[in-house]
Amino acid sequence: MKIGILGLGLIGGSLGLDLRSHGHYVFGVSRRESTCTKAIALGSVDEASVEMNLLTAAEVVFICTPIGLIIPTVEQLIAHLPAHVIVTDVGSVKTPIVKAISPLWENFIGGHPMAGTAESGIEAAQRDIFVGRPYVLTATATTPATAITVMEKIVTQLGSTIYHCSPQEHDRAVSWISHLPVMVSAALISACMSESDRHVLQLAQQLASSGFRDTSRVGGGNPELGTMMARYNQQELLRSLQQYRRNLDELINMIEQENWTALQEKLRFTQSSRPKFIDD
Ligand code: NAP
Repeated sequence: MKIGILGLGLIGGSLGLDLRSHGHYVFGVSRRESTCTKAIALGSVDEASVEMNLLTAAEVVFICTPIGLIIPTVEQLIAHLPAHVIVTDVGSVKTPIVKAISPLWENFIGGHPMAGTAESGIEAAQRDIFVGRPYVLTATATTPATAITVMEKIVTQLGSTIYHCSPQEHDRAVSWISHLPVMVSAALISACMSESDRHVLQLAQQLASSGFRDTSRVGGGNPELGTMMARYNQQELLRSLQQYRRNLDELINMIEQENWTALQEKLRFTQSSRPKFIDD
């Protein structure tokens, strides 16, 4: 197929590498001319331009810009596309995107590849990052069946596992397992940094090991990405943060009241629940 990618960064560039290796012809559009040149040199795209009209000949277009630019980018792009072109996006939040784009472009289907690294930009593009990872498709009642079938075929070629759900279900689920952990981890780092004894703080920093590495990793990540999650998934993130606060209060009460039995029961419950999310 002829596939367009708009936004040649980590996700767009990685998609291009894999799609080309499956025999697709890939057109790339990005903001900077230098990125277009690099994308061709790295093998992410066959042709690249800073002009959106390069995508006129594509059959499917993936929007891979930063999340805040997805809607305005589609608003500009559709002037260049024939009506049969399937448009999809890779944004980490789905409800506002699907709500805004569906009325503009009938042949639209929201998507979210649950893959990535801490890096960004075209230089960070890698082959096979989608292999074995979930890829969520958020079709609605008005999504054409062919758009779903074509996307299922492409996602299967990427080696991902397909999940179908509504945009709202997606945003609630990712709030629990992706957006809440970023805020919890950020609060952990910030709380540690509030230690008022300079020597104790320094000692804690020297003693920090694998437990702190695991629990602080996502809170120490890209600030723009964390802010985007909160901004575009505000309601679901607030809902999960409030539930998290209730859990923290419950733990504080158990410890204050020296209710070690209740605490142990709670920790038994969390120990047995974790494998339902993550299988080490
Ligand atoms: P990224 O590495 O920063 O790539 C985004 C690229 O978009 C930039 O390299 C930039 O290229 C280009 N761009 C910026 N403004 C543009 C514009 N106005 N027109 C055209 N291109 C523009 O970010 P990413 O991590 O790939 O994320 C892209 C999308 O994937 C986001 O919507 C994010 O929610 C989603 N996502 C990310 C991950 C992850 O782990 N990173 C995982 C799943 C989904 P130039 O060099 O040309 O400026």
